[in-house]
Amino acid sequence: MIYSGEELLKACRANQCKISSIAIEEETKTSSLSRNEIIEKMRLNFEVMKSSASCALENEMRSVSGLTGGDAKKAWKRSLQNKTICGKTINTAMARALSCSEVNGAMGKIVAAPTAGSCGILPAVIITVSENYNSSEEDVINSLFTASAIGGIIAHNATLSGAEGGCQAECGSASAMAAAAAIELAGGNPDECLNASAIAIKCVLGLVCDPVAGLVEAPCAKRNSMGAVSAMAAADMALAGIKSIIPFDEVVDAMYRVGRAIPCELRETAQGGLAATPTGKRLFNKVFKK
Ligand code: SF4
Repeated sequence: MIYSGEELLKACRANQCKISSIAIEEETKTSSLSRNEIIEKMRLNFEVMKSSASCALENEMRSVSGLTGGDAKKAWKRSLQNKTICGKTINTAMARALSCSEVNGAMGKIVAAPTAGSCGILPAVIITVSENYNSSEEDVINSLFTASAIGGIIAHNATLSGAEGGCQAECGSASAMAAAAAIELAGGNPDECLNASAIAIKCVLGLVCDPVAGLVEAPCAKRNSMGAVSAMAAADMALAGIKSIIPFDEVVDAMYRVGRAIPCELRETAQGGLAATPTGKRLFNKVFKK
């Protein structure tokens, strides 16, 4: 089993291969499924990702609470304009991430990668980057295995849960996974993948989990959107040759220690942060008719 970024890089160097190859190999060793069955399962995950990333772009999907819905459509419309501040790629990715989050809020089908709350980041990034690079479906599915390797290491050494480590652990991990997947799609190497993942986590270190009314909707949907942007920015930095000064494994360790230091009011209990603002409390009362 691969338990750290360092071990993952060593395995890639020893086998002269991509992270995805090692991840598929590891999965075949630890599951009862054949290589083909594992790849087919990932392909089915990708189908769900594509559907959730497009579902709310043209048709509004509102959550039962009414806290989220309609923003993916607005972002998509803006992405189609000729002139925007962030450009087409970023606006498209933001819209797709919002779409997944809105589908999740409306109790639709998503892939929790790594969690339902952060379900928009990875699909938004891989779909958008694969369009830019004309990647094949096989490349995209492989990139999902790369993302899974990063997520597995974070889960083993830290946490992926907002309740345990704050939003840095959920959206931060999703962003790290997506950054590595983006690098592989863009033809980068395993070192660049880990640099991008480290940069993505570092940029949200300390981010608290403070869902309004305790529902995984606000600020979650917008954090998915920003998590996708952060992943792509981290990937481009790594591809430019920029390295994370703190290595990936140490960043993951720091993220876990920071997460443990976050007070419980700011770890999915909806007792602090945005949930505890006057508007957050008013929305809580409105949703639960108090
Ligand atoms: S704020 Fe909390 S519930 Fe929402 S996405 Fe972040 S970790 Fe998940």
